[in-house]
Amino acid sequence: MFRIMRVKDPLRDHDMKMKICPECKKYTLKDLCPLCNARTVNPHPPKFSLEDKYGKYRRLIKKERELL
Ligand SMILES: [Zn+2]
Repeated sequence: MFRIMRVKDPLRDHDMKMKICPECKKYTLKDLCPLCNARTVNPHPPKFSLEDKYGKYRRLIKKERELL
């Protein structure tokens, strides 16, 4: 399945695979940093449209938490 995705959209696949360690800022392809074992994250922030889409749900969750 990943092989098919790579053929269809190689740049996007590369972006998704490249991660950065939040602790030592080292770039890696692994889910865990090889240096400090911290969980790596995607260095590219989500697009604004996506952010807004989930922001709606975040606000709802926040509201619910305030009520509890
Ligand atoms: Zn690290």
